[in-house]
Amino acid sequence: MASPMNGGSGTYSYARNSTWQRNVAAALENTLKEAVMENLDLQKLLCDSDTFVVADLGCSVGPNTFHAMEAIIDALQRKCDKTTLEFQVAFNDQTGNDFNTLLASLPVGRNYFAAAVAGSFYGRLFPSSSIHIAHSSATLNWLSRVPEGLANAAKIHYTGAPDAVARAYQDQFEEDMGIFFRCRAREIAAGGLILITMGAVLSRDAQHRVAAAFTFIESILIDMVKEGVLAQERVDSFNIPIIFPYIEEIRRLIEKNKCFEIVKMEKLESAGNSENAIMHIRAGFEGTLTTHFGSEIVEQVFVRAIQHQHKLHSTLTSTSSTGIFVVLRRN
Ligand code: SAH
Repeated sequence: MASPMNGGSGTYSYARNSTWQRNVAAALENTLKEAVMENLDLQKLLCDSDTFVVADLGCSVGPNTFHAMEAIIDALQRKCDKTTLEFQVAFNDQTGNDFNTLLASLPVGRNYFAAAVAGSFYGRLFPSSSIHIAHSSATLNWLSRVPEGLANAAKIHYTGAPDAVARAYQDQFEEDMGIFFRCRAREIAAGGLILITMGAVLSRDAQHRVAAAFTFIESILIDMVKEGVLAQERVDSFNIPIIFPYIEEIRRLIEKNKCFEIVKMEKLESAGNSENAIMHIRAGFEGTLTTHFGSEIVEQVFVRAIQHQHKLHSTLTSTSSTGIFVVLRRN
């Protein structure tokens, strides 16, 4: 299972180290609003109800989730002149997420009712047909678990590993997407939308820049093995459950589930940026690393990461950040 992002609001927290994700979302804000304005038939969707329900799947601890929810609600308000319309936002993440920090930092003066829903989105989270818009950003790259049967010595990811490893990741992704869309098909009301932003590669053989960061962490772990600080088998048995799928593969998996129509599928690409790279990696992956290696080893990994950060920076500035934005409508 994916480990949650670093909680709290301290130096290494996700709340303070998630501007990469935020920058992608900020660039997409108008597109997100347009998607809401253009693709909903509110009368049909709401029938006689006055409550519009939005879910953010994999919300983490903010502030990105608050920006996204505000953008969606802003678009809905502009679209609908009914003054009696009320909004509910369901903030979902795994049970280990720091919901206390999330709920304590809810925007003052917000115009929606907030609820927290803990649990994996690779399973049912809501009653049937109860959600009008589901949003999920930078989340579906996390697999439900490490694929089974990986014997990828000294590889912590499928990048640079034998083909069988990449296939095992793809198989797990296919299974997870199947479950994700089956569950959402039950939960999203007819005419409702799913808005997905996720990392993806634009050609089959391209490497994603976050995968380049994994290779950097891997090289540090291998150094530690060579120096006798860490046992080889600890590294061999560690695999990060994240995939950066090829765009056409994502399309195929969406189409496999017949309940959603692809209204929009847009490629995202932004220039390489290595600002605060190590802090971002730490906020996002410290939990995953700590579960396996323990906090002492992980502390050392990040001390070494800072010593060698020039290597990471040159890799990251030379690779662009790629992904997709998808709008799906429930038939
Ligand atoms: N949406 C936020 C956070 C992205 S970080 C943003 O755009 O900034 C990825 C989040 O997905 C993490 O908080 C992680 O806990 C969550 N996540 C990963 N797998 C999940 C699952 N199976 N169910 C629910 N949340 C999950």
